[in-house]
Amino acid sequence: MASLTGQSPGLAEQLQLQLLEDAIPESRVLIIMTGGTICMRPSPSGFVPARGFQEQCLARVPTFNNGSPASMMDVVVNAAGEVRAHPSLRTPQTAYGRRVHYTVFEFEELLDSSSIDAKGWAEIARAVERNYTLFDGFVILHGTDSLAYTCSALSFMLQNLGKPVILTGSQAPMLELQNDATDNLLGSLVVAGHFMIPEVCLYFNNRLFRGNRSIKVAASDFAAFDSPNCPPLAVTTSMRTNVNWELVNRPRSLEHFRITTNLDTTHVACLRIFPGIKPEMVDAVLKLDGLRGLVLETFGAGNAPSGQDNAMTKVLADAIKRGIVIVNVTQCMTGSVSPVYAPGMSLSRAGVVAGLDMTTEAALTKLSYLLALPDSTPEWVAKSMSVSLRGELTEVSQPAFRHPDGALPERVQSLTVLGYAIAQGDLERVQEIVTQEHYWLLNDADYSGNTPIHLAATSQSINILQYMLLQGGSVHLRNQNGRTPLFLAANAGLSEHVLLLRKSGAHLHSDERAAAQLLAQRRPGVWRLAGIERDEGPENS
Ligand code: ASP
Repeated sequence: MASLTGQSPGLAEQLQLQLLEDAIPESRVLIIMTGGTICMRPSPSGFVPARGFQEQCLARVPTFNNGSPASMMDVVVNAAGEVRAHPSLRTPQTAYGRRVHYTVFEFEELLDSSSIDAKGWAEIARAVERNYTLFDGFVILHGTDSLAYTCSALSFMLQNLGKPVILTGSQAPMLELQNDATDNLLGSLVVAGHFMIPEVCLYFNNRLFRGNRSIKVAASDFAAFDSPNCPPLAVTTSMRTNVNWELVNRPRSLEHFRITTNLDTTHVACLRIFPGIKPEMVDAVLKLDGLRGLVLETFGAGNAPSGQDNAMTKVLADAIKRGIVIVNVTQCMTGSVSPVYAPGMSLSRAGVVAGLDMTTEAALTKLSYLLALPDSTPEWVAKSMSVSLRGELTEVSQPAFRHPDGALPERVQSLTVLGYAIAQGDLERVQEIVTQEHYWLLNDADYSGNTPIHLAATSQSINILQYMLLQGGSVHLRNQNGRTPLFLAANAGLSEHVLLLRKSGAHLHSDERAAAQLLAQRRPGVWRLAGIERDEGPENS
């Protein structure tokens, strides 16, 4: 450690520097390595995924390793809940005054992503679920070829997600001299470690996209992905990462994070219409054994040839009568399917569902997800395909306006007024402020790092807390002392508030468990509700 005077530091100075170092807050991020070019190395049969990414590619690079003493991080590695200590690394302090403390968890079999399927998606979802309470965010390293499909699938599989899940990869391996892997991974780590964007996202070439809106647009350019029907959720510049907060989706229910893993990709298909396509061809696909859903890529605003005597429309209508769900998406990069022309209108009359502005990747994975849900009927699936579940489409009736950015003083003012209304238990006033405020306030922090959810966690009115959780306020943000709203509610002895927060997916952060355990000795009841057991171990519920 160098001293300010350039001489080697004395013990007191060393201790002081160490204390300063320790005072820097940290975010905990789990990197899940599934394979892809980012970790590949050359072999006689071409580039193949290689193990040892953390040691080979990150440990030696100062931007990924600040050189702080080695420490271990617990990772839950299998269905039995086995916890393994993994060597971890820390980034240097970021522009946001934090360090990202992380470890890489490598899957047993690393894939070229062209071979991934629903089983691979389930493995990723389970790894996130098992480690959900141990980390603040997740970065998934994945090949680029099928990345947009995986992002879309995961967005449906991860329900009531309250933390960022950022997928990335690269066009050139990390160990190549000129690569995009370094920037893509570093940008993803910064987003996952600093911004409460509780969505499945894709970070590439300095832009953060909603995962289920993105498509691969280039086979070798560094700008490999785009999200033509939805602006980026964030953009990284040389100064900072600018988040487009009004676009960010938040879970608006009082439910825990959970996953669905059994997507039915084996009974769905995708067919691209072309001039001259014969109804018999389409019919042959629709008569594939066990087929339950078809994504039809049509022309322009959703038009397909009707065939002689409307033969094509008849083939489609017959299949729908047999219980097959057919979804209409456009072959165009941008725009939406809408019945403005006669051919599009006749498809919709035949029962073909308008996929609006969904990508093919989103439509196919959404269909696989909905068809696999228990008790799903073709009618219900067809109806749900036109409704936005995770921001994957723009609903026609949804007003498409954007608010201007709030200037800082105005925001601070609104936050203060909201704070007073919470303290006074005035639900009506709280509702008024939240509804009228054009800037997203609920995840904003005051001078001590408390968000409105922190304030509501100890307010006299539980209805205010409930209202704000239903608006999508995060239960995971921590104040300047590193405390979650759950910690504050338990510390105040408010059992009802604790139960409501737990119901909404809140859990104590690993950094606050030691303090919670001490406090639990005096008030075991309320702390038990907050998740502290007498024989403390890592919590995964
Ligand atoms: N074939 C590679 C993969 O998808 C391509 C990449 O990662 O860019 O795994």
